Amino acid sequence: MSTPEDRKLLMGDRWWEKLPRKVYSTLERVPCSQDWFEVYKVKEGIYAIYEPGQYEEALCTLLLGGEEAALIDTGCGIANIRACVEEITDLPVMVVNTHAHNDHIADNHRFSSIAMLDHSWSVRAQRGLPNSEMIHLVEPGMVWKPLPKGFDPKKYVTPPFKATRWFSDGDVIDLGTRTLEVMHTPGHSPDSCCFLDREDRLLFTGDMFYTGGIYTYLEGGDIPTFIESYEYMLSHYEDYDRLMPSHNEPWVEKELLRDVHRAVVEISEGRGKYREGVDRGVPIKRFDYGRFNIVTRADQHRPK
Ligand SMILES: [Zn+2]
Repeated sequence: MSTPEDRKLLMGDRWWEKLPRKVYSTLERVPCSQDWFEVYKVKEGIYAIYEPGQYEEALCTLLLGGEEAALIDTGCGIANIRACVEEITDLPVMVVNTHAHNDHIADNHRFSSIAMLDHSWSVRAQRGLPNSEMIHLVEPGMVWKPLPKGFDPKKYVTPPFKATRWFSDGDVIDLGTRTLEVMHTPGHSPDSCCFLDREDRLLFTGDMFYTGGIYTYLEGGDIPTFIESYEYMLSHYEDYDRLMPSHNEPWVEKELLRDVHRAVVEISEGRGKYREGVDRGVPIKRFDYGRFNIVTRADQHRPK
């Protein structure tokens, strides 16, 4: 287990004091009957569902198509995201996961249509996660808003679920008037995906990009693979204008992708300033670049 002192390098002190993030005042807020979520309409038919009360600041995106809606990720599973979605649309909803980390799949079990990357990590994720792998999300210092009524930390798990569609790199998920093109982009985790919406000129980046600490140190993550995936994401640079990540800010200028690429190349060459720390027993380095930082395993970027 990491101690609060260990996690300070990742989280900083009193992280919630930087909230609300500025971008939210520029977006149209949509009512939601659950206090846990904040819902924003970012453009016609596209809604960001935000969990600002918990450190991960998870963001799930709902896209309304002509025949079907897609919900990109289901968040931390602390409140009921399905009820939230049903206040926005009557369309049938398909969950589309960016990857199988606990803060992206925890409410999958509430849905009957779930699409995931055809990968051993997604297959394994269907078993759900026990309390021991969820509880750190609601430990002291991780949550500042009141937890929803009826939420019991002792019973907090990711219940099992069943994926109903398996996609691969290059597949197109057709929602009627909108499509999502799958890009398999490992580096944060082996199963990480981005989705390209050519109609709206958006790239959904999951955990491959967001403003904040970008992690390459978790199991199955590594810098060389991360760089390759960034080159893939940048090869489509002319196909999108904005980024929609799974944490922190839902509507980000695409230029930051080039900055992250430059940063990780610098890190891979043994350059870049860092601070050292430990997260759950793993020695890590944090490289700061203003609106984002890159967190690597302490031993993974030694120059050759
Ligand atoms: Zn993740």
